[in-house]
Amino acid sequence: MNYWVEKKEKQIHANVFIIKDRCKECGFCIEFCPQGVLKVSEEFNSKGYHPPKLVETETKKCIGCGFCSMICPDFAIFVEKEEENEKN
Ligand code: SF4
Ligand code: SF4
Repeated sequence: MNYWVEKKEKQIHANVFIIKDRCKECGFCIEFCPQGVLKVSEEFNSKGYHPPKLVETETKKCIGCGFCSMICPDFAIFVEKEEENEKN
């Protein structure tokens, strides 16, 4: 007997918070983000560095892994994961 198994995808939502004035532009968060959604911004913070910014697209989105937050030596970036919703 064959069974039809319905595939459901989980969509993860995460908010990335950047405390711009703490950033020293080391670039670790940008380099190690597995999704490649962090980029150097054009703006300067109060120390004269360019903090990162989140650049998401339809296909590349933050997955809330928290690597950026773990790797930042200046505690300038943190991630808040939202509840997972089922997407049909
Ligand atoms: S939480 Fe993960 S995917 Fe999201 S911006 Fe940070 S490193 Fe990238
Ligand atoms: S890891 Fe922290 S200090 Fe380094 S660029 Fe990212 S936010 Fe700035």
